[in-house]
Amino acid sequence: MADYYDILGVHKGASAEEIRRAYRKLAHEHHPDKTGGDDKKFREINQAYQVLSDEGKRVQYDRFGTTFEQPGSGGFGGADPFADFTRGFSGFGFGNGSNSGFDFGDIFSDIFGFGTQQEGSRRERGVDLEMVLEISFLEAVFGVEKEVKLQKRDVCPVCRGNGAKPGTKLRTCGKCHGQGQIRRVQRTILGNIATSTTCAECGGRGKIPEQTCDTCEGKGVKVQIKTLSVIIPPGIDDGQRVRITGQGEVGYHGSATGDLYIKVRVVAHATLKRDGLSILSETPISFYQAALGSRIEVQTVDGPVEMKIPAGTQSGKIFRLRAKGVPELNSRHRGDHLVTVYVVTPTKLSKKEREILQRLAEEKGELVDVGESVWDKIKGQFE
Ligand SMILES: [Zn+2]
Ligand SMILES: [Zn+2]
Repeated sequence: MADYYDILGVHKGASAEEIRRAYRKLAHEHHPDKTGGDDKKFREINQAYQVLSDEGKRVQYDRFGTTFEQPGSGGFGGADPFADFTRGFSGFGFGNGSNSGFDFGDIFSDIFGFGTQQEGSRRERGVDLEMVLEISFLEAVFGVEKEVKLQKRDVCPVCRGNGAKPGTKLRTCGKCHGQGQIRRVQRTILGNIATSTTCAECGGRGKIPEQTCDTCEGKGVKVQIKTLSVIIPPGIDDGQRVRITGQGEVGYHGSATGDLYIKVRVVAHATLKRDGLSILSETPISFYQAALGSRIEVQTVDGPVEMKIPAGTQSGKIFRLRAKGVPELNSRHRGDHLVTVYVVTPTKLSKKEREILQRLAEEKGELVDVGESVWDKIKGQFE
């Protein structure tokens, strides 16, 4: 893979503004609709900018030479500038559809000087979707396979996307001669810019059904409720997203399908907490166990484990159970379980226990309250 910094012609320490300036200049130069434009080069530039303009992705790229979320394969480096953001998903408690968060619109308005081209249909990659999935603490630690239901625009199940009533034929569109696009050259201050617009007659498909499909009214796509099985990897944490390539909405006019992002919500555990790869818990031990040492049982994500308490353990001491923590995502490494013990001071002492403790205190020469208040003495006299 070519170096993104080289592609944009900036140095590794370039500021966000420098990157943006370099991108604009290059995007301007290589825009495929311009004379001498270069589609491949333009995509490269966009891909580089998509990563380097995003602080999080840039850090990942600097460190690993790649980003975990590779830019998609759709037109224009996977960015989806014309996605329809306005549609929400009311019935299922999902988040709004979202795209990669890449800010494309303003760049286009800069280049063309007249806003985004809604008609540029060949760029209409399917919309990315995002949904929230709630999983348990242990499911997050060990991973889980879940069935999810989502509402999305997908290929019509009756006509399989061609828009024709089953058993009827398609004919070539007379207006665009099967191209699906109508090309037009505009004179602008930047010179002649050719724009392709979707053929209104056939909606960009190049073919027209003789009889339209009743289910999708000839559109070839229909909003449907889909059930799919998703795999949540072990070690995922609250708020992290899993990307499921190609499970977003279907692309427009045969272009790439969007992706589905599953944002994970982890339900809190009653006794275990998590800090990165570490599992944290607390356990009480008695005064005697602390002083004399003991073996106690501790609950871990792998079930109960015996833990040794050495004699003379202080309250607040943290013990480490190695490799009983959270597995690291995409790795064999596993974190530890850290157990904080606290010593419980006995509250209700029997007469015998009190005598023994008093003798211990005397042995140490420590001054202790003998425990009998004036009131106790007076009360004693009347019993
Ligand atoms: Zn249909
Ligand atoms: Zn047409």
